[in-house]
Amino acid sequence: MALSGRNVDPAAKARWNQTYRLSRYGLTPEQFNRLLDIQGYACAMCHTPFEEGQPVFLDHDHACCPDEKSSCGKCRRGLLCLSCNTAIGVIERKHYLARAYLNNPPGQLIDRGP
Ligand SMILES: [Zn+2]
Ligand SMILES: [Zn+2]
Repeated sequence: MALSGRNVDPAAKARWNQTYRLSRYGLTPEQFNRLLDIQGYACAMCHTPFEEGQPVFLDHDHACCPDEKSSCGKCRRGLLCLSCNTAIGVIERKHYLARAYLNNPPGQLIDRGP
């Protein structure tokens, strides 16, 4: 899919920046706008376009910087919507468990002999 070319109202950019500034992740407004542009003004995970003024979260690698609210800058990953930002944290913690479970679900063992 094409990542750029979406016509974005500069006022919308300003509002995202304003909402974003409430949380402190260490991106300058210029870096933030550039990242929005790279991502086509959509969530990096579900690709749903950001609505005007919608809260946007900068995701980072929590293995590097465990603090939810701050990143060293080297481990930043992308801008996410609220639901993806919540989901990625759970997925990161649980995906090995989920894989093992899906590979060997106990429900399949009931009808097998001992
Ligand atoms: Zn999303
Ligand atoms: Zn870090």
